[in-house]
Amino acid sequence: MLTNRSLQTLASAPLRLPAGSLALALPPLRAISTATVAAKAHDRTHQQSVAASAARRTPLFVSNSRVLGKGLFFHRPPLVTATSTLPSYAPWTLTWRLPYAAVAAAQTQPKQQEIHVDVGEVARLRDECRAVNPECGYKPPLAFDPTKCLECWACEKACPVGDKFLFNQSTCLLCGKCAQVCPTGAISSPPMPIRETLSKLKEEGKVTIAQVAPAIRSVLTEEQICYGLHDLGFDMVFDTNMAADICIMEEAAELVTRITAPSQESPLPMFTSCCPAWINMVEKHYPHLIPHLSTCKSPQAMLGALVKHHWASQKGVSADDIFMVSVMPCIAKKDEVQRVQLEHAVDAVITTKELMDQGSFDLEAAKNNTQKLHFDQPFAEHSGGAVIFGASGGVLEAAARTAYKMVTGNEPPHASLQPARQQGDVKELVLPVKEGVEIKVAIVNGMDHLSEVLPHMDKYHMIEVMNCEGGCVGGAGNPRALDLKEIQKRQQELYKRDEKATYFASHETPAVERLYKGELKDEHLRHHLFHTHYNHRFEKDQWHLPATKLIHVKPATTPVSPPAMEHCKTLIPIGFDEIHVKDRVRVTPEGYKPAQYVFKFTVPSGAAGGPSTYRTGDHFGLVPCNPPELVDRLLMWLGKDPMRAHEELVEVTSEDPLRAFPGMPMTLHRLLSQFVDLNGPVPYYLRRLVSPDTGFVPPEAVAHKNAAEAIMSLPKGKYSFSEIVSACDIIHPRFYSIASSDTRCPDEIELLVVDVPGGLCTGHICRQPLEYIQTTPIAGKLRKGVFNYPMDGNTPMVCVTVGSGFAPVRAFLQERKDRGLSGDFVLVHGCRHASKDFVCQEDIQDGGVSASFYAFSRDDPKKKVYIHDKIAENGAAVWELLQRPDCQFFYCGSSGKILNQMETALIKCSEGICDGGSIIRQMKGEHRYHLEAY
Ligand SMILES: Cc1cc2nc3c(=O)[nH]c(=O)nc-3n(C[C@H](O)[C@H](O)[C@H](O)COP(=O)(O)OP(=O)(O)OC[C@H]3O[C@@H](n4cnc5c(N)ncnc54)[C@H](O)[C@@H]3O)c2cc1C
Ligand code: SF4
Ligand code: SF4
Ligand code: SF4
Repeated sequence: MLTNRSLQTLASAPLRLPAGSLALALPPLRAISTATVAAKAHDRTHQQSVAASAARRTPLFVSNSRVLGKGLFFHRPPLVTATSTLPSYAPWTLTWRLPYAAVAAAQTQPKQQEIHVDVGEVARLRDECRAVNPECGYKPPLAFDPTKCLECWACEKACPVGDKFLFNQSTCLLCGKCAQVCPTGAISSPPMPIRETLSKLKEEGKVTIAQVAPAIRSVLTEEQICYGLHDLGFDMVFDTNMAADICIMEEAAELVTRITAPSQESPLPMFTSCCPAWINMVEKHYPHLIPHLSTCKSPQAMLGALVKHHWASQKGVSADDIFMVSVMPCIAKKDEVQRVQLEHAVDAVITTKELMDQGSFDLEAAKNNTQKLHFDQPFAEHSGGAVIFGASGGVLEAAARTAYKMVTGNEPPHASLQPARQQGDVKELVLPVKEGVEIKVAIVNGMDHLSEVLPHMDKYHMIEVMNCEGGCVGGAGNPRALDLKEIQKRQQELYKRDEKATYFASHETPAVERLYKGELKDEHLRHHLFHTHYNHRFEKDQWHLPATKLIHVKPATTPVSPPAMEHCKTLIPIGFDEIHVKDRVRVTPEGYKPAQYVFKFTVPSGAAGGPSTYRTGDHFGLVPCNPPELVDRLLMWLGKDPMRAHEELVEVTSEDPLRAFPGMPMTLHRLLSQFVDLNGPVPYYLRRLVSPDTGFVPPEAVAHKNAAEAIMSLPKGKYSFSEIVSACDIIHPRFYSIASSDTRCPDEIELLVVDVPGGLCTGHICRQPLEYIQTTPIAGKLRKGVFNYPMDGNTPMVCVTVGSGFAPVRAFLQERKDRGLSGDFVLVHGCRHASKDFVCQEDIQDGGVSASFYAFSRDDPKKKVYIHDKIAENGAAVWELLQRPDCQFFYCGSSGKILNQMETALIKCSEGICDGGSIIRQMKGEHRYHLEAY
């Protein structure tokens, strides 16, 4: 059993790092009631090596374990991460979450000390802590499964703050955009088993209440939602729209107060506060904007407070006996409900997607239901203003309807509200109040456009910021929209409902009016129920660069011998071997763009710890170097002689577990050519260095620029070299599906590579002269793929490929031929032109596929033909195989909407043949449906 004494023993353990332990530099721990620990490995190979290391008890390196400033983690315990020194590029991370009591102790005794925890001990503690108090831990809204990660970096590109999948508590907005774009489900939001939870709560005598966000109605109808949620077991289903009306009443009143009497505590402009990802952005990245945030809680939190602290007492029910679940289009709301300020007003959040994916919500029955079910009173009535909350611009439009009335006594001119409904990244509304006086507001449609407004924020009275493009209808908890058109369709659905609404503005809703004139007349009660406060969650003096991201570069102090010096000059990332290009053959016609090549590489030696043999279907990772001329230019800007930089040794350590460096000195030149990404787009933190207060860099200043050019635009001497390196990305590996079979080419690796304009890796391997790349080694490693060719030759297979996604299928076909395999094999392949980029046709002929269908998207100028068209045309042949219980499905190619289109086409063309949807679900559950999308 976990006791405070046992934890205090841990806390007072010696300061030295003995072999066979994890060392966590923690403040003294006291009165711990819970701790959680999670091991993450970057890929399967690392996971295995981590497991092996744990077994061998290899000493692990400590990083990033400070408890940051007072009040920082006021509502959840800080994360403490430790990083292994194993040879891996992005090593595993151990994450501890400290309980409040430990934080309090840390704040009173800030002196740090190390404690040592045995790997086995950590796992034991974790289990014991859960047993002691399973409730008290924070439940992260996002989880990362390294075994599914392809390192395609789509998550990083989609992330508003350039984070990776670590969900670093001091920087991550918990918005779930990364989960939304992840093609393999490696990042996901763990669903709550809702039916089971509800029946357990029922047994305990709890009243179970659901509330439903406005944006859900863009995907499901009110009747479907009410039917489905009651069917699941909820006692009551309330409408969050009603609280959206209250939110507008409060927000409009707050705006009017700020306009009439602005103060340091309540300045203008006022920012909306209903998007929790935006609140996280302010608290973690722009704390100086906290006074500008409206103090209004979000509608879900308002309804929770109203129900638990007001409605419950009226009904004679204890708040503790109510279990409230919000149905939201949003992953960040799962984080929001755990804020201490909200006092557990909402107990859990489920997303629309979870409801629809889980199978627990009977969608078909809900769709076929003919009863006219509605939300339960007294939280059912609402205005059209509340309905449009779910669309970008909706909150501001609704607030304008009421604030204008409060100021002028009239309805705002409809034409002045129109811009809120237009498409655009940043929208402006001007409301003429009286001669010469107007209210100016702005709408930020997606967090990526925040920096376009912040530099000019003083010219506005109010600014709406929504993290998701299109507003909550495009939220990461809603089913992923295929494209912008679908988002617009969802917005239109809400606007139609607004038109049909009985009441135009929030102040007109009778239920709201009754509350404000009756039970909620007392302003103090309303303030208590509906308002909140925010806290800095970042070190004040360093908020432009989080402490958890720091990389320290300092001159090496220990002299090195000449042979070791050679090693420092050629140091490659941990976990990679030196490999060589053997050959390169262009397979598309000269002059055709993009060019494609078949490469031959040497197989890694395995010296760095990775495998030295591969299986058909595996991946090959390359870590390219920056172009030499770019490195030299930057060195000169730094005042360094490029030639001497080849001799100057530096030591590099990192606080960021995802940006690990070899634990030995390297030359300055090597650091800038092999590790710091100088060629890629300007990353988030580098923008923050260029423009620390706002992160705003004029678009023309970063367009077509790379990180090196952004560095060279910084004021000289303003930032240390360590800060500059910390703000940059580290060159990450580019993975390729191996295009050869290990049966045919055991001693070399073949790749099918498309030359990507502006690409770093392809710039090196595709565009440099063959002799140059043959004589310049590159860092490479093997990795297990998502799918190995089945050893049983009779396994039926359906393969769908697009462009260079044909690479692994080329390997499968080689293996079929060489091993004389004859299982049924259907291929659907898409490229642009039959005569130009339909490469490696001889492999298809040799591999003896049973049926093949080709989509050439650009051959017919009148009609583009895609793989989903070919699937739709050939449903019988495809489903003849997919129906077989041992059939394996494999897709390889680009990610994005093509994946949805393909699956939709597969399900649609199964009509009249079988229940395709159920078969695909089953195949996914049995790991027979493989996606290699990038
Ligand atoms: C599992 C897996 C398998 C894959 N298999 C294959 C395969 O078989 N064949 C294949 O060809 N590819 C494959 N890929 C894709 C491959 O890994 C690379 O992404 C691709 O080769 C591009 O790498 P790059 O370094 O040349 O481009 P990057 O440097 O990564 O550039 C990517 C994009 O960013 C843009 N960009 C770069 N710098 C800037 C800048 N400063 N400003 C603005 N934009 C910029 C580029 O123009 C380009 O569009 C696979 C990917 C994965 C994850
Ligand atoms: S598969 Fe791609 S998007 Fe998903 S976690 Fe891995 S790198 Fe991110
Ligand atoms: S949740 Fe949002 S902020 Fe956090 S890593 Fe994912 S995309 Fe980035
Ligand atoms: S815009 Fe809406 S869905 Fe997206 S993070 Fe904000 S509240 Fe959630």
